[in-house]
Amino acid sequence: MTLSFTYQGSAARIVFGNGTSGDVGKWVEALECRRALVLSTPHQASDAQAMSKRLGNLSVGTFTEATMHTPVDVTERAVARAAELGADCVVSLGGGSTTGLGKAMAYRTDIQQIVVATTYAGSEVTPILGQTENGAKTTLRSPKVTPEVVIYDPQLTLGLPVGMSITSGLNAIAHAAEGLYAPDRNPMTTMMSIDGMRALKDALPVLIDSPHDGAAREKALYGAWLCGTVLGQISMSLHHKICHTLGGSFDTPHAETHSVMLPHTIGFNASAVPDLMTPISDIFGDATPGQALYDFAKSIGSPMALSDFGLSEADLDRAADIATKNPYSNPRTIDRTAIRALLQDAWSGTRPPY
Ligand code: NAD
Repeated sequence: MTLSFTYQGSAARIVFGNGTSGDVGKWVEALECRRALVLSTPHQASDAQAMSKRLGNLSVGTFTEATMHTPVDVTERAVARAAELGADCVVSLGGGSTTGLGKAMAYRTDIQQIVVATTYAGSEVTPILGQTENGAKTTLRSPKVTPEVVIYDPQLTLGLPVGMSITSGLNAIAHAAEGLYAPDRNPMTTMMSIDGMRALKDALPVLIDSPHDGAAREKALYGAWLCGTVLGQISMSLHHKICHTLGGSFDTPHAETHSVMLPHTIGFNASAVPDLMTPISDIFGDATPGQALYDFAKSIGSPMALSDFGLSEADLDRAADIATKNPYSNPRTIDRTAIRALLQDAWSGTRPPY
């Protein structure tokens, strides 16, 4: 085997373990900050208020309007509030939506970020920021948006509803699965992909009947960290392009869209790079990679069909057009006819042929 690669780790500090969210104050001080603004969605506002209260003199208050897709007007309100309160760092408590808000603020003001991650989306360990303005979503990569400290406290995920745990976990698996064939992959990202997928494959089925199982929650969050790290370090291909197209142009729900598309996109690509995809069959089952992922997703109660999200068959024509325009690099040649057929299978929830 000939090895040739470039590896760039992240400077972010990762803190993992039960109870670690109790140490946020310590990390605010470690960043030489004294005035934290705690961010959340409206849904997690009471948790943000409790966190702010626990921080005592180290918190200047909360901003609890974070929402999906990081709308620029919300960011501008948050930046104004941070300035008004003299905040010197943010504590983003929540999933990708709240993390996105903190990153958008950092992009504009360089404010330091501590993320307390409560889903499996992975945004907290990436230099990627997606934002929406006037109905259009744009994505950028900048080291400025990478959070300085990420706290993973499995206890905070005990209340993540089962449905969201499943789709968020499949969203994480999608990062790792595409990481296996990324043109800029390296031995570290491949190891992280495999270990991350294995952890989620073991943990997600347990959560269906036992959402409060501490060991399974710990394993799922550990897997999510690894899979998110892969997303942050290397480039993604067809799967992420299609999910961005569907989310950006048809407003389909983020994690659910990843969950439905995963077997179809990975199966499609696996036929071009079968050797790189053997870990998928090793982890998820003996069938072809797409079919193994489909069977796994179905067994854990994932949504299986794009038609469930209100998409019409006519929308698939437009989605195929957009997804094949300016494609991301991909191991299998992308042509519109094949992508339209793949979308049709995903729309009807059919088991993929590959
Ligand atoms: P989310 O952050 O939108 O959370 C969904 C809902 O669940 C929210 O109401 C939230 O408050 C609630 N919630 C979160 N954690 C909870 C918990 N432990 N218990 C109870 N409720 C909880 O969902 P998400 O899937 O984490 O994030 C999706 C967003 O993140 C999308 O906008 C997506 O584009 C973005 N994202 C960005 C990146 C990146 O690298 N930039 C990566 C992944 C996702």
